[in-house]
Amino acid sequence: MEELLRDAAKRAASYLQTLPTRRVSPAPSALEGLGRFSIPLQDEPLAAEKVLEELDTIGSPATVASTGGRFFGFVIGGSLPAALAANMLAGAWDQNAGLEVSSPVAASLEKVCRNWIVDLLGMPAGTEIGFVTSATMANFTGLAAARHALLQSKGWDVEAKGLFGAPPITVIVGNEVHVSLLKALGMLGLGRERVVRVPVDGQGRMIPAGIPQIDGPTVVCLQAGNVNTGAFDPAEEIVSKLQGTGAWIHIDGAFGLWAAASPSMRHLARGVEKADSLATDAHKWLNVPYDSGLVLVRDKRHLNAAMSSSAAYLIEGETRDPHLFVPEMSRRARAVEIWAALRSMGRVDLADLIDRSCEHARHFAEALKSAGYEVLNDVVLNQVLVSFGSPEVTRRVIASIQEDGTCWCGGTVWQGRTAMRISVSSWATTDHDVVSSLNAILRIAAEAQTPA
Ligand SMILES: *Cc1c(COP(=O)(O)O)cnc(C)c1O
Repeated sequence: MEELLRDAAKRAASYLQTLPTRRVSPAPSALEGLGRFSIPLQDEPLAAEKVLEELDTIGSPATVASTGGRFFGFVIGGSLPAALAANMLAGAWDQNAGLEVSSPVAASLEKVCRNWIVDLLGMPAGTEIGFVTSATMANFTGLAAARHALLQSKGWDVEAKGLFGAPPITVIVGNEVHVSLLKALGMLGLGRERVVRVPVDGQGRMIPAGIPQIDGPTVVCLQAGNVNTGAFDPAEEIVSKLQGTGAWIHIDGAFGLWAAASPSMRHLARGVEKADSLATDAHKWLNVPYDSGLVLVRDKRHLNAAMSSSAAYLIEGETRDPHLFVPEMSRRARAVEIWAALRSMGRVDLADLIDRSCEHARHFAEALKSAGYEVLNDVVLNQVLVSFGSPEVTRRVIASIQEDGTCWCGGTVWQGRTAMRISVSSWATTDHDVVSSLNAILRIAAEAQTPA
């Protein structure tokens, strides 16, 4: 076992060493090589070291180097060294984090991380956190707490009775709502399409005057960090407008919420601390390994009522069994890597991670603008949207950049306009990465202006 794990660590380290020089998208030959996995399962066992060797030989070259410094697609962070190392140790521990008795260390680290994160994000003490797989599940879980609270106030026990015959809940979203939130609504029986959509401005921010009069049980879903522009809904203004209406305010802050951890970016997130529930990811901007999301709920009784297997509320002072706040029962100890990431960075380096990503994004935007290309968004955070001309040209540039392999950027359509997205979310991105990526982007974009 010991030799095997040393071999695994050595292979992992060698893999990471290839990242600064290898192409970001896997080479076509590496993708073809994946065919070598497609064999019938053999009868006889195979030695673990052989299994690992096969995985490394075939698998490693076929990975997308998204954990390196030149991946700017979607919103994907890397893995901080301490978080990755902790992940490897936690793999050896193989804890079931559902119950305190099955993993006192996981239960304990969840409490520590909860307290740190509640403080970092400026939420009131007493806010509970569920450690889930993703922002999609965090949206689901936060909205389940909302559903519980709103229907309980009408004397309806939704966990016991379901939604058939229940008082209707109005769901208000911004017109640029993330698809994962709509999916969560669908899974909760609240419907993807029966939402009230509030108009947004050119950055995707909800226009507060467009929020309808609140009438009956209502959940208002705001966004902290639009996946395309990085823009924030004006939470402070909306929260004060909704005060006294009884509306539940949920915020999807999958990556943007972390702006609250930086003194220089915090102003964007003003008001989010007043929300009833918030969803965020740790596997994006906090740079812990997949998968890791967080749901924060101000009044933990609602979260507990929606998620516990029995309808009983948590009694103060009792053991905090982690499964009481999330959909899963058995699960891995996600707080381990979150703890390691926060413990290794401290407040200063966490703020620096956020600030640096935003600076890199501004650098990209300025260089692209200087070269004559149109940046479609106000670069307030870590996201840049750029058009290289017609939709066809922009799409051609994106495809060529991905094929070139120096960096990786994805595409989007922003309010009717085809654009390339640059999302800077990795701790590993250096100034040098930005410069070499820009060189590749500008070269390819210039070539694309003159059709072959
Ligand atoms: C990425 C993202 C999500 C979904 O997060 P997953 O972790 O992929 O489930 C939700 N909302 C926003 C704003 C996002 O950027």
